[in-house]
Amino acid sequence: MVFKQIQAKEIPLLDNFLYEAIFVLESMTAPPRSIIENEDLQVYVRDFGQLPDDRCLVAECDGKIVGAVWVRIMNDYGHINAETPSLAISLYKEYRNKGIGTELLERMLQLLKKDGYKQVSLSVQKANYAVRMYQKAGFEVLSETSEELVMVCDLVKKIPKLEMTQKHCFECGTLLTERVLEGEGIVPYCPTCKQFRFPMYNVAVSMIVINEQTGEILLIKQYGRPSFILVAGYVNRSEQLEQAVSREIKEETGMTVSRIKFNRTSFFEPSNTLMCNFTAFVEDASELSPNGEIDSYQWFSPDDARQNIRPNSLAERFLNAYLDEYCMNDCDL
Ligand SMILES: [Zn+2]
Repeated sequence: MVFKQIQAKEIPLLDNFLYEAIFVLESMTAPPRSIIENEDLQVYVRDFGQLPDDRCLVAECDGKIVGAVWVRIMNDYGHINAETPSLAISLYKEYRNKGIGTELLERMLQLLKKDGYKQVSLSVQKANYAVRMYQKAGFEVLSETSEELVMVCDLVKKIPKLEMTQKHCFECGTLLTERVLEGEGIVPYCPTCKQFRFPMYNVAVSMIVINEQTGEILLIKQYGRPSFILVAGYVNRSEQLEQAVSREIKEETGMTVSRIKFNRTSFFEPSNTLMCNFTAFVEDASELSPNGEIDSYQWFSPDDARQNIRPNSLAERFLNAYLDEYCMNDCDL
Protein backbone atom coordinates (compact mmCIF):
# COMPACT_ATOMS: atom_id res chain seq x y z
CA MET A 1 0.00 0.00 0.00
CA VAL A 2 1.39 3.37 -1.04
CA PHE A 3 0.00 6.69 0.19
CA LYS A 4 0.70 9.73 -1.98
CA GLN A 5 -0.60 13.01 -3.29
CA ILE A 6 -2.96 12.62 -6.19
CA GLN A 7 -1.51 13.31 -9.64
CA ALA A 8 -3.27 15.50 -12.17
CA LYS A 9 -4.07 12.59 -14.47
CA GLU A 10 -5.71 10.72 -11.57
CA ILE A 11 -8.14 13.53 -10.67
CA PRO A 12 -10.97 12.14 -12.87
CA LEU A 13 -10.99 9.14 -10.47
CA LEU A 14 -12.53 11.41 -7.85
CA ASP A 15 -15.85 11.00 -9.69
CA ASN A 16 -15.68 7.26 -8.88
CA PHE A 17 -14.83 7.92 -5.26
CA LEU A 18 -17.55 10.51 -4.94
CA TYR A 19 -20.02 7.97 -6.28
CA GLU A 20 -18.72 5.30 -3.88
CA ALA A 21 -19.02 7.72 -0.97
CA ILE A 22 -22.74 8.34 -1.39
CA PHE A 23 -24.13 4.86 -0.96
CA VAL A 24 -22.10 3.23 1.74
CA LEU A 25 -25.12 1.90 3.64
CA GLU A 26 -25.83 -1.80 3.07
CA SER A 27 -29.56 -1.20 3.04
CA MET A 28 -29.43 1.33 0.24
CA THR A 29 -29.80 0.40 -3.38
CA ALA A 30 -27.23 2.00 -5.60
CA PRO A 31 -28.46 5.26 -7.11
CA PRO A 32 -27.82 5.90 -10.80
CA ARG A 33 -24.30 6.97 -11.59
CA SER A 34 -25.66 10.25 -12.97
CA ILE A 35 -26.46 11.34 -9.41
CA ILE A 36 -22.97 12.84 -9.13
CA GLU A 37 -23.93 15.41 -11.74
CA ASN A 38 -26.19 17.03 -9.13
CA GLU A 39 -24.95 20.45 -8.19
CA ASP A 40 -24.73 19.63 -4.46
CA LEU A 41 -22.30 16.80 -5.29
CA GLN A 42 -20.39 18.51 -8.08
CA VAL A 43 -19.01 21.02 -5.56
CA TYR A 44 -16.77 18.21 -4.29
CA VAL A 45 -15.01 17.50 -7.56
CA ARG A 46 -15.53 20.23 -10.16
CA ASP A 47 -12.15 21.61 -11.32
CA PHE A 48 -10.49 19.88 -8.40
CA GLY A 49 -6.89 20.94 -7.88
CA GLN A 50 -7.44 24.47 -9.12
CA LEU A 51 -8.51 26.12 -5.87
CA PRO A 52 -5.79 27.05 -3.35
CA ASP A 53 -7.18 24.88 -0.56
CA ASP A 54 -7.68 21.74 -2.67
CA ARG A 55 -5.70 18.78 -1.34
CA CYS A 56 -6.04 15.10 -2.08
CA LEU A 57 -4.19 11.99 -0.91
CA VAL A 58 -4.75 8.57 -2.42
CA ALA A 59 -4.00 4.99 -1.40
CA GLU A 60 -2.51 2.85 -4.14
CA CYS A 61 -2.47 -0.96 -4.03
CA ASP A 62 -0.66 -2.96 -6.75
CA GLY A 63 -0.70 0.05 -9.04
CA LYS A 64 -4.41 0.71 -8.56
CA ILE A 65 -5.84 3.72 -6.73
CA VAL A 66 -8.22 2.16 -4.18
CA GLY A 67 -9.09 5.09 -1.91
CA ALA A 68 -8.94 8.86 -1.65
CA VAL A 69 -9.30 11.59 0.92
CA TRP A 70 -9.74 15.12 -0.30
CA VAL A 71 -10.52 18.54 1.08
CA ARG A 72 -11.53 21.88 -0.33
CA ILE A 73 -13.27 24.93 0.98
CA MET A 74 -16.72 24.48 -0.50
CA ASN A 75 -20.32 25.09 0.26
CA ASP A 76 -21.26 21.49 1.03
CA TYR A 77 -23.30 20.09 3.95
CA GLY A 78 -20.18 20.10 6.14
CA HIS A 79 -19.27 23.73 5.43
CA ILE A 80 -18.62 25.84 8.53
CA ASN A 81 -16.81 28.97 7.38
CA ALA A 82 -14.49 30.36 4.73
CA GLU A 83 -11.33 29.24 6.54
CA THR A 84 -12.34 25.63 7.17
CA PRO A 85 -11.93 22.97 4.49
CA SER A 86 -14.55 20.23 4.20
CA LEU A 87 -13.29 16.68 3.96
CA ALA A 88 -14.46 13.71 1.93
CA ILE A 89 -13.06 10.20 2.06
CA SER A 90 -13.94 7.14 0.08
CA LEU A 91 -12.62 3.63 -0.55
CA TYR A 92 -13.69 0.94 -2.97
CA LYS A 93 -15.86 -1.50 -1.06
CA GLU A 94 -13.39 -4.40 -0.94
CA TYR A 95 -10.74 -2.15 0.62
CA ARG A 96 -12.86 -0.95 3.54
CA ASN A 97 -12.32 -1.99 7.18
CA LYS A 98 -8.60 -2.65 6.64
CA GLY A 99 -7.23 0.49 8.29
CA ILE A 100 -6.63 2.19 4.92
CA GLY A 101 -9.23 4.86 5.57
CA THR A 102 -7.80 5.57 9.00
CA GLU A 103 -4.33 5.99 7.56
CA LEU A 104 -5.54 8.24 4.72
CA LEU A 105 -7.52 10.35 7.20
CA GLU A 106 -4.63 10.62 9.65
CA ARG A 107 -2.23 11.67 6.89
CA MET A 108 -4.63 14.33 5.64
CA LEU A 109 -5.10 15.73 9.15
CA GLN A 110 -1.33 15.95 9.61
CA LEU A 111 -0.96 17.62 6.21
CA LEU A 112 -3.62 20.22 7.05
CA LYS A 113 -2.07 20.85 10.45
CA LYS A 114 1.34 21.33 8.83
CA ASP A 115 -0.19 23.76 6.31
CA GLY A 116 -1.60 25.86 9.14
CA TYR A 117 -5.30 25.03 9.05
CA LYS A 118 -7.02 25.37 12.43
CA GLN A 119 -9.81 22.90 11.80
CA VAL A 120 -11.47 20.71 9.20
CA SER A 121 -15.12 19.67 8.96
CA LEU A 122 -17.23 17.02 7.30
CA SER A 123 -20.79 15.81 7.07
CA VAL A 124 -21.70 12.17 7.46
CA GLN A 125 -24.83 10.09 7.78
CA LYS A 126 -25.35 8.91 11.36
CA ALA A 127 -25.61 5.30 10.19
CA ASN A 128 -22.29 5.41 8.33
CA TYR A 129 -19.65 3.03 9.70
CA ALA A 130 -17.09 5.83 9.26
CA VAL A 131 -18.50 7.92 12.14
CA ARG A 132 -16.45 5.91 14.62
CA MET A 133 -13.31 6.34 12.52
CA TYR A 134 -13.85 10.11 12.48
CA GLN A 135 -14.33 10.19 16.25
CA LYS A 136 -11.15 8.23 16.85
CA ALA A 137 -9.25 10.63 14.62
CA GLY A 138 -10.44 13.54 16.79
CA PHE A 139 -13.63 14.74 15.08
CA GLU A 140 -16.45 15.93 17.34
CA VAL A 141 -20.10 16.50 16.52
CA LEU A 142 -20.83 20.16 15.89
CA SER A 143 -24.48 19.87 14.85
CA GLU A 144 -26.92 17.21 13.77
CA THR A 145 -30.17 16.61 11.95
CA SER A 146 -32.25 13.45 12.19
CA GLU A 147 -29.96 11.67 9.72
CA GLU A 148 -26.76 13.67 9.36
CA LEU A 149 -23.92 14.86 11.53
CA VAL A 150 -21.62 17.79 10.92
CA MET A 151 -18.31 16.98 12.59
CA VAL A 152 -15.24 19.10 13.12
CA CYS A 153 -11.65 18.23 14.04
CA ASP A 154 -9.64 20.80 16.00
CA LEU A 155 -6.21 20.61 14.37
CA VAL A 156 -4.62 22.96 16.90
CA LYS A 157 -5.42 20.53 19.71
CA LYS A 158 -4.50 17.49 17.66
CA ILE A 159 -1.19 16.02 18.71
CA PRO A 160 1.43 16.52 16.03
CA LYS A 161 2.83 13.50 14.30
CA LEU A 162 5.71 11.95 16.17
CA GLU A 163 8.86 13.35 14.69
CA MET A 164 11.08 10.89 12.89
CA THR A 165 14.09 11.87 15.00
CA GLN A 166 15.55 8.41 14.46
CA LYS A 167 15.69 7.43 10.81
CA HIS A 168 16.72 3.80 11.32
CA CYS A 169 15.63 0.93 13.54
CA PHE A 170 17.89 0.74 16.59
CA GLU A 171 17.77 -3.09 16.53
CA CYS A 172 18.36 -3.93 12.88
CA GLY A 173 19.21 -0.68 11.09
CA THR A 174 16.30 -0.87 8.64
CA LEU A 175 15.01 2.48 7.41
CA LEU A 176 11.88 3.21 9.44
CA THR A 177 8.54 3.78 7.74
CA GLU A 178 5.36 5.29 9.16
CA ARG A 179 2.31 3.35 10.22
CA VAL A 180 -0.90 4.16 12.04
CA LEU A 181 -1.07 2.78 15.56
CA GLU A 182 -4.67 2.74 16.78
CA GLY A 183 -5.25 5.58 19.20
CA GLU A 184 -1.76 7.04 18.65
CA GLY A 185 -1.75 8.30 15.08
CA ILE A 186 1.27 7.79 12.86
CA VAL A 187 4.25 6.13 14.54
CA PRO A 188 7.67 5.15 13.13
CA TYR A 189 7.65 1.46 12.24
CA CYS A 190 10.33 -1.10 11.40
CA PRO A 191 9.07 -3.35 8.58
CA THR A 192 11.83 -5.91 9.33
CA CYS A 193 11.23 -6.30 13.08
CA LYS A 194 7.50 -5.63 12.59
CA GLN A 195 7.67 -3.34 15.64
CA PHE A 196 6.69 0.25 16.28
CA ARG A 197 9.77 2.30 17.11
CA PHE A 198 8.78 5.26 19.24
CA PRO A 199 11.38 8.03 19.31
CA MET A 200 13.88 7.52 22.10
CA TYR A 201 14.87 10.19 24.59
CA ASN A 202 16.62 10.49 27.94
CA VAL A 203 14.95 10.84 31.31
CA ALA A 204 16.48 12.83 34.16
CA VAL A 205 15.41 13.97 37.62
CA SER A 206 16.04 17.41 39.05
CA MET A 207 15.57 18.06 42.76
CA ILE A 208 14.69 21.00 44.95
CA VAL A 209 16.48 19.68 48.05
CA ILE A 210 14.95 21.12 51.24
CA ASN A 211 16.24 20.87 54.78
CA GLU A 212 13.24 19.60 56.73
CA GLN A 213 14.45 21.35 59.91
CA THR A 214 15.14 24.85 58.54
CA GLY A 215 13.18 25.05 55.30
CA GLU A 216 16.33 26.05 53.46
CA ILE A 217 17.00 25.01 49.87
CA LEU A 218 20.26 23.49 48.64
CA LEU A 219 21.74 24.90 45.44
CA ILE A 220 25.00 23.69 43.90
CA LYS A 221 27.62 24.82 41.40
CA GLN A 222 28.96 22.30 38.91
CA TYR A 223 31.26 21.91 35.91
CA GLY A 224 33.18 25.09 36.68
CA ARG A 225 30.19 27.32 35.96
CA PRO A 226 29.60 30.40 38.10
CA SER A 227 25.88 30.17 38.92
CA PHE A 228 23.81 27.92 41.16
CA ILE A 229 21.62 25.11 39.87
CA LEU A 230 19.57 22.24 41.29
CA VAL A 231 20.90 18.76 41.98
CA ALA A 232 20.07 16.58 38.98
CA GLY A 233 20.98 13.35 37.27
CA TYR A 234 19.94 10.83 34.63
CA VAL A 235 17.57 8.00 35.41
CA ASN A 236 18.88 4.49 34.82
CA ARG A 237 16.97 2.08 32.60
CA SER A 238 14.45 0.11 34.70
CA GLU A 239 14.90 2.50 37.64
CA GLN A 240 11.90 4.25 39.19
CA LEU A 241 11.99 8.05 39.24
CA GLU A 242 11.59 7.93 43.04
CA GLN A 243 14.67 5.73 43.33
CA ALA A 244 16.66 7.99 41.03
CA VAL A 245 15.81 11.00 43.21
CA SER A 246 17.12 9.36 46.38
CA ARG A 247 20.11 7.76 44.66
CA GLU A 248 21.31 10.96 42.98
CA ILE A 249 21.07 12.98 46.21
CA LYS A 250 22.87 10.27 48.16
CA GLU A 251 25.62 10.00 45.52
CA GLU A 252 26.15 13.71 45.06
CA THR A 253 25.58 15.07 48.57
CA GLY A 254 25.73 12.07 50.93
CA MET A 255 22.36 13.02 52.44
CA THR A 256 19.43 10.66 52.99
CA VAL A 257 16.08 11.65 51.53
CA SER A 258 13.16 11.26 53.94
CA ARG A 259 10.28 12.07 51.61
CA ILE A 260 9.74 13.40 48.11
CA LYS A 261 7.03 15.30 46.30
CA PHE A 262 6.51 15.34 42.55
CA ASN A 263 6.38 18.82 41.02
CA ARG A 264 6.37 18.91 37.24
CA THR A 265 8.18 17.85 34.08
CA SER A 266 9.59 19.67 31.10
CA PHE A 267 11.16 18.41 27.90
CA PHE A 268 14.67 19.82 27.42
CA GLU A 269 15.30 19.83 23.68
CA PRO A 270 19.08 20.51 23.63
CA SER A 271 19.84 17.23 25.41
CA ASN A 272 16.74 15.31 24.21
CA THR A 273 15.79 14.83 27.85
CA LEU A 274 12.52 14.70 29.76
CA MET A 275 13.35 16.50 33.03
CA CYS A 276 11.22 15.44 36.00
CA ASN A 277 11.32 17.83 38.93
CA PHE A 278 10.78 16.77 42.53
CA THR A 279 11.07 18.32 45.94
CA ALA A 280 13.25 16.10 48.14
CA PHE A 281 13.28 16.63 51.89
CA VAL A 282 16.29 15.71 54.02
CA GLU A 283 16.21 15.35 57.81
CA ASP A 284 19.90 15.42 58.58
CA ALA A 285 21.89 18.12 56.79
CA SER A 286 24.98 17.18 58.80
CA GLU A 287 25.37 14.20 56.43
CA LEU A 288 26.22 16.66 53.68
CA SER A 289 29.55 15.73 52.08
CA PRO A 290 29.46 16.59 48.40
CA ASN A 291 31.23 14.33 45.94
CA GLY A 292 33.68 15.40 43.26
CA GLU A 293 30.90 16.38 40.82
CA ILE A 294 29.95 19.38 42.96
CA ASP A 295 32.24 22.44 42.91
CA SER A 296 30.46 24.19 45.77
CA TYR A 297 27.09 24.35 47.48
CA GLN A 298 25.04 26.63 49.69
CA TRP A 299 21.77 26.53 51.65
CA PHE A 300 19.41 29.39 50.82
CA SER A 301 16.14 30.71 52.17
CA PRO A 302 13.42 30.35 49.51
CA ASP A 303 13.68 34.05 48.56
CA ASP A 304 17.48 33.91 48.33
CA ALA A 305 17.29 30.70 46.32
CA ARG A 306 15.15 32.57 43.76
CA GLN A 307 17.79 35.33 43.59
CA ASN A 308 20.72 32.96 43.17
CA ILE A 309 19.50 30.25 40.83
CA ARG A 310 20.91 30.44 37.28
CA PRO A 311 18.76 32.97 35.39
CA ASN A 312 16.66 31.75 32.47
CA SER A 313 17.42 28.12 33.22
CA LEU A 314 15.04 25.21 33.45
CA ALA A 315 16.15 24.93 37.12
CA GLU A 316 14.92 28.49 37.68
CA ARG A 317 11.55 27.73 36.11
CA PHE A 318 11.14 24.61 38.25
CA LEU A 319 12.14 26.45 41.43
CA ASN A 320 9.95 29.48 40.82
CA ALA A 321 6.96 27.35 39.88
CA TYR A 322 7.34 25.37 43.07
CA LEU A 323 7.82 28.41 45.30
CA ASP A 324 4.94 30.29 43.66
CA GLU A 325 2.69 27.37 44.43
CA TYR A 326 4.01 27.14 47.98
CA CYS A 327 3.48 30.85 48.65
CA MET A 328 -0.02 30.85 47.18
CA ASN A 329 -1.15 27.95 49.30
CA ASP A 330 0.75 29.25 52.33
CA CYS A 331 1.45 25.66 53.29
CA ASP A 332 4.37 23.84 54.79
CA LEU A 333 7.26 23.46 52.33
ZN1 LIG B 1 14.23 -3.43 12.96
